[in-house]
Amino acid sequence: MTFVNELKKICKDNLLTKKEDLYVYAHDTSQSPEKIIVPLAVVFPRNTKEVSEIIKVLYKYNIPYIPRAQGTNHCGATRLVKDSVVIHFSKMDKIIKIDKKNLIAKVQPNVVIGDLNKELDKQNLFFPPDPSNLAVSTVGGAVSLCAGGPRTFKYGNTKDYVINLEVVLDDGTIINTAKDVAKNVTGYNITSLFVGSEGTLGIITGLTLKLIPKPEERLLTLAYFDSLEDAARCVNNIIDFGFIPSALDLLDNNTIKTIEKFNPCGLLVDKKAALLIELDGFRKCVEYELEILKNILQKSNALNIVQAKNQEENEEIWKARRSAYSAVTQLKPNVVTEDIVVPRDRIVECVKKINEISKKYNIIVCIMGHAGDGNIHPNFALDLSNQVEKENFEKLKDELFNYAISVGGTLSGEHGIGLHKKKYLKDALDCGAFLVMKKIKNLFDSKNIINPDKMF
Ligand SMILES: Cc1cc2nc3c(=O)[nH]c(=O)nc-3n(C[C@H](O)[C@H](O)[C@H](O)COP(=O)(O)OP(=O)(O)OC[C@H]3O[C@@H](n4cnc5c(N)ncnc54)[C@H](O)[C@@H]3O)c2cc1C
Repeated sequence: MTFVNELKKICKDNLLTKKEDLYVYAHDTSQSPEKIIVPLAVVFPRNTKEVSEIIKVLYKYNIPYIPRAQGTNHCGATRLVKDSVVIHFSKMDKIIKIDKKNLIAKVQPNVVIGDLNKELDKQNLFFPPDPSNLAVSTVGGAVSLCAGGPRTFKYGNTKDYVINLEVVLDDGTIINTAKDVAKNVTGYNITSLFVGSEGTLGIITGLTLKLIPKPEERLLTLAYFDSLEDAARCVNNIIDFGFIPSALDLLDNNTIKTIEKFNPCGLLVDKKAALLIELDGFRKCVEYELEILKNILQKSNALNIVQAKNQEENEEIWKARRSAYSAVTQLKPNVVTEDIVVPRDRIVECVKKINEISKKYNIIVCIMGHAGDGNIHPNFALDLSNQVEKENFEKLKDELFNYAISVGGTLSGEHGIGLHKKKYLKDALDCGAFLVMKKIKNLFDSKNIINPDKMF
């Protein structure tokens, strides 16, 4: 293949072409039932110039390509739908600069978010987006999905922390979308266009990220309830009081039981729901807020209140929450995590609806979510090799997404559309907005070779 020879000249040894080496890149965390397609090649560029040269070759030969970080997305965003080359960023993983005076970091795309925060910690700085798997997920992947996580309610999601992107366009041209300054309304906001574009508009090779000072104190509270209604009412009471906790996550009874079964950590399995609430800020403020929070919890019928007293105890509670997905994976061969959003005052109705549909189609579900944002994650455990379960799951998804749309909600709050949800996209968007998005895709990728056939 001529294009492979040209790629070899650019990448030297940083190129895979043997089938046994390529197979792993045909998969990602998402449990796509679609046919597995093995990449034609995987390239590992070391810098922006190499990315640009690779893209020029692929553009010349009309070869589709998939930008890929750790492949931990839930929506099939890095799965192949046709013969393609995978561009893997593992060799572009450097923190270039942390600039405390200007509160920015300049990084390459494959910097792992947890590693970035460890470095920032040393300078009392903080990058808030936390896609719950921050020990593996990268800034390039999180920015491309506009990931959120438990801290979105207070701090916003990834889009609020991107100042400037270096991007390689479809023909290999390298651009910067903005300047490295905190405020900027000069021209169209094309930085935002690339955030959440799921690698379908261009390749991100450099990022300037906004940082904030690290809060002096963080304290976690885990409150249990005898009903989901009480937990949801408590969320409203917290917000009505004027609190903006840095995390406000909901776990249903099935999730509590599943975590406890596979990763025992002392959760109360007889309780119907739990809220994980994090307060952060100056120590004295957090202590003051904590007293008020306890009052609200008691008035909201919280039964047991577990209070972390220090960083170690915080981590214990976070560990339990973060282990939820891995616990659910042990129930059945496959787990599909969905990510609908509903207006916050419909959380109880939404959770009931999810349970009702799951029962109807006989599929196990563990529900958790970022309750402060109305963003619910049902984790469906099933066996996709079982034809009946597979067909039932398709019907379940149709009902789930139709429900979310019917109550004024949407398909995804933070995991993206990718391959899994593209058939629902048109229904979830204003018709005109859908057409504008297709025009944008066509403008940036007229050959439809950049992560093709995703989203639309
Ligand atoms: C256990 C678990 C829990 C999770 N919880 C949350 C959560 O609470 N909130 C949340 O928001 N997400 C959550 N996620 C999903 C999370 O958003 C993704 O895992 C993460 O944001 C990106 O992962 P990644 O670095 O592996 O990117 P990948 O999965 O490799 O890629 C993600 C997307 O980015 C594109 N891409 C990657 N690099 C580039 C680049 N350089 N240029 C252009 N496009 C690129 C890819 O094509 C793809 O479309 C969870 C995932 C897991 C496994």
